[in-house]
Amino acid sequence: MTHAQPRRAAEQAVLTVQQVEQVSPDLIRITAGGDGYDAFRDNDSTDKYVKILFADPRHGLTPPYDLALLREQSPEKLPTPRTYTIRSADPAQRRLVIDFVVHGDEGIAGPWALGARPGDTLVVSGAGGGYQPDPAAPWHLLVGDHTALPAISSAIERMDAAAVGHVLLSIADDADRILPELPAGVSIRWTETDEELLAALAALPWGDGHPQVFAHGERGTIKAVRALLKERDVPRESLSISAYWARGRAEDQFQAEKREPIGQIE
Ligand SMILES: Cc1cc2nc3c(=O)[nH]c(=O)nc-3n(C[C@H](O)[C@H](O)[C@H](O)COP(=O)(O)OP(=O)(O)OC[C@H]3O[C@@H](n4cnc5c(N)ncnc54)[C@H](O)[C@@H]3O)c2cc1C
Repeated sequence: MTHAQPRRAAEQAVLTVQQVEQVSPDLIRITAGGDGYDAFRDNDSTDKYVKILFADPRHGLTPPYDLALLREQSPEKLPTPRTYTIRSADPAQRRLVIDFVVHGDEGIAGPWALGARPGDTLVVSGAGGGYQPDPAAPWHLLVGDHTALPAISSAIERMDAAAVGHVLLSIADDADRILPELPAGVSIRWTETDEELLAALAALPWGDGHPQVFAHGERGTIKAVRALLKERDVPRESLSISAYWARGRAEDQFQAEKREPIGQIE
């Protein structure tokens, strides 16, 4: 006689939205927590990120979702994953904070954040991550756009007071340009466009030794950042570099394209 294997639902933290704060015109900060926090797998990376699972309310699913069963029996009901940085996590209070960029009416996560209210459910799975500022790095180079602001902010908070380096951020609106206090030896350059960001990177005075690099943002821009870093011979192992989104692509397509030449940044 054979027994059906019990299905283990992928670890999902089912959280309740506690606070919704409009930090700046284009950034909404959501604090979510509760008993479900115990299923959140925290780590030490400053770029730690989760998959948020957005289920279509019309399907009436109750989290945690049995993704394997849904995949097998009703794939059309599968929740849509979106990737977000954990800006901070507080195990004592059992809550975490995520900063959502508002980017118009398109998509799922951005519009969800815009309409989120205390009491709403937020289902997250993870966290992954892989970067934190290395105190032994000769200098730091952090490059990004609004989507990398949470991870870059966490990296700055983790740096030693003696850290040196440069932060280059492409964020058009002055009011969205919010960062924690920088170590005295770390400069910040804000640009209005990604083109200006690339020009600023190309013109950057290069310190001694290879920088430890954190570069994340729009795919086309990050590819151009990678090309500039190749010109400077920065070794691959000093880089945390990847696209966080791609213009004209919903995340599903953008993630799928990572397996194709168009999606690869090497
Ligand atoms: C590891 C990682 C960490 C990330 N951390 C954060 C984070 O902390 N905060 C955050 O806001 N984003 C973050 N992102 C980016 C976020 O996952 C994408 O922006 C995602 O596409 C948003 O999903 P959506 O449902 O709102 O839009 P989608 O349905 O994916 O896209 C709909 C349309 O909106 C466009 N679009 C998507 N994002 C943006 C944007 N930011 N600006 C302008 N147009 C956009 C797309 O090109 C598409 O045309 C992260 C991504 C990764 C991979």
